[in-house]
Amino acid sequence: MIDTWITDLTHFFDDAGDLVSEPAQAKALAEYFATIVFMASYPDHEYPPEYIVKCRRRPNRNPCLGEIVGIINPETDDIMWMCQKCNDKGIISNWRGSMWDLSDSEQLVH
Ligand SMILES: [Zn+2]
Repeated sequence: MIDTWITDLTHFFDDAGDLVSEPAQAKALAEYFATIVFMASYPDHEYPPEYIVKCRRRPNRNPCLGEIVGIINPETDDIMWMCQKCNDKGIISNWRGSMWDLSDSEQLVH
């Protein structure tokens, strides 16, 4: 059975609305999921290379570094993401309207 990360993005905010800063592990996870939201909500399929998210898993203590792909599920509005290399995957909810939601930040002209 493959574990799926079920993430409610609001769980990574503190009372002031900022990303949690401690414990360090929670902060690292929060930043990881934030970059996935950036990438998946980018309003174009061709996002810039700086938006690419690398897998943070370390199977057998070796960094996976596979590229994460993320899409917005049109039915649930959750972000579904997956590592193309190790198949680590997850679902992020309650990201819409967060500071990392880029989906309606600009209109791109094709
Ligand atoms: Zn991976």
